[in-house]
Amino acid sequence: MPILNGDSMEQIPILHKEKILDFNTALDVLKEYPERDGIDVQTLLDSKNNGGLTYNDFLVLPGYIGFSANQVQLDSPVTKRITLKTPLLSSPMDTVTEHNMAIHMALLGGLGVIHHNCSADDQAEMVRKVKRYENGFILDPIVISPQTTVGETKALKAKWGFGGYPVTETGKLGSKVIGIVTPRDTQFHDNDSDPVTVIMSTDLVTARSGIDLVEANSILQKSKKGKLPIVDENGNLVSLLSRADLMKNVHYPLASKLPHSKQLISAAAIGTRPEDKLRLKKLVDAGLDIIVLDSSQGNSMFQIEMVKWIKNEFPGLDVIGGNVVTREQAAGLIAAGVDGLRIGMGSGSACITQEVMAVGRPQAASIHSVTTFAARFGVPCIADGGIQNVGHMVKGLALGASTVMMGGLLAGTTESPGEYFVSREGQLVKAYRGMGSIAAMEDKKAGVGSSNPNDPKASNAGTARYFSEGDKLLVAQGVSGSVLDRGSITKFVPYLIAGIQHSLQDIGVTSLTALRQGVIDGEVRFELRTVSAQAEGNVHGLHSFDKKLYS
Ligand code: GDP
Ligand code: 5GP
Repeated sequence: MPILNGDSMEQIPILHKEKILDFNTALDVLKEYPERDGIDVQTLLDSKNNGGLTYNDFLVLPGYIGFSANQVQLDSPVTKRITLKTPLLSSPMDTVTEHNMAIHMALLGGLGVIHHNCSADDQAEMVRKVKRYENGFILDPIVISPQTTVGETKALKAKWGFGGYPVTETGKLGSKVIGIVTPRDTQFHDNDSDPVTVIMSTDLVTARSGIDLVEANSILQKSKKGKLPIVDENGNLVSLLSRADLMKNVHYPLASKLPHSKQLISAAAIGTRPEDKLRLKKLVDAGLDIIVLDSSQGNSMFQIEMVKWIKNEFPGLDVIGGNVVTREQAAGLIAAGVDGLRIGMGSGSACITQEVMAVGRPQAASIHSVTTFAARFGVPCIADGGIQNVGHMVKGLALGASTVMMGGLLAGTTESPGEYFVSREGQLVKAYRGMGSIAAMEDKKAGVGSSNPNDPKASNAGTARYFSEGDKLLVAQGVSGSVLDRGSITKFVPYLIAGIQHSLQDIGVTSLTALRQGVIDGEVRFELRTVSAQAEGNVHGLHSFDKKLYS
């Protein structure tokens, strides 16, 4: 019989044969319970009772929603000094991150770490492209002289990618501005030997040096021009502002930029061999902000020595060490001075380390152990590897990681290196390979000939993460395969961001900081998942279904 009203209450079988309580008292009665429902993070990750857990082995319990999802703040540190607006990183793998991925990850508020399976010069060029992509005041603009020809200006556009150049009396910065040439001036001018003075615009709108960026941007907006030369009291060129940067700023409000330059933050990876020091110098010259020391087992004398050397040589550069999965590994690198740590060993989707080496650790256990220790020294950590969905990201962040790093999840996007191809099953795919796969190691080994940093062969080589130079045989720690097309990260990353915001809303926290505090205080609760609970939490019982993740 259906229950129609309060009078029918007696018909509900109650577990405790107690008097039914007044519903008004529910919140007070809740306080009588010594603990909140579920378990706290320590109990969850108690390895003696639960074993080494990973993402799918547990869930976060829901909290109270008192705010909308788009209010959730995702700012989080990636190093001691640098905070991102989006806690997402792309992995330094040759099928994941080159300059295009790095630029777009940074525009979307995250960070792409440029791989080092290429020559030092190629890697430095990629860093340069990231740094040049967007500017505030361009302090080192390309300047031309009145004698520069139209043809030379066209060649400059082909070289630099932009075509607007201020013309000064001497062709140098610090000299009087007499005009400006833009692609519209050069485009249809056929006589390439004419000097630019024939086509340049001379009705200049300029601003005086000392002006702040907001004010200068407002003059640029009102002027309707493409460029705003900034000049001193004598009309000498000091710097330049570009309308394209204004637009980028409007389109990408979360972009990862350094406050002073307004340039995108750039990160790249290197190994820990002597020749990597030369490589690093080139990357720093190109404007690098963060260096990631790329090693599957970071607790080595090589890495510790490298961290100390970098901190001494380039104190302005932030160093991320790793990979580590234990407190003990982390301690040595923290003592050496790292500004961030990368956590994960054998959890990557293209990785067979745990199977072949019997070494590694389940990712949830690794993150909890390392982050609880590193947090005591203010060192932020990256959860690297094994991220398959938004849920995994939130779990990594809940366990203490400040950011998450993805390889396979981003490898099938438009911004990753390489071309799409059609698989045997007729699906559009892109190649994805572990950096410890035979294919990737053979590519590296082809160039590695010497540890002498001045040996051009050495500087042209990629740097080994998974083999030593003396090795007679390559032992694979990764596989080589393909992943499905995911479209552009300009759609995929906003989906990931919105997904994390919705998840934090369900948990009842308004920011990643609040999530971490809630976990530490025991307010954010967890539950273990049995194998059948995992099956229940996935789609089940359907004849067929379409798993479209966002629209
Ligand atoms: P243009 O119209 O072809 O000059 O190019 P845009 O103004 O559309 O975009 C130029 C982009 O390149 C902007 O993001 C600039 O900040 C950047 N850039 C970097 N260095 C320079 C420079 O020396 N001159 C110019 N014009 N742009 C630069
Ligand atoms: P994914 O996001 O695909 O699950 O994992 C990416 C991470 O896997 C990388 O950031 C890196 O730490 C790790 N990785 C990349 N290549 C290999 C490999 O060949 N072997 C192992 N053990 N790990 C790899």
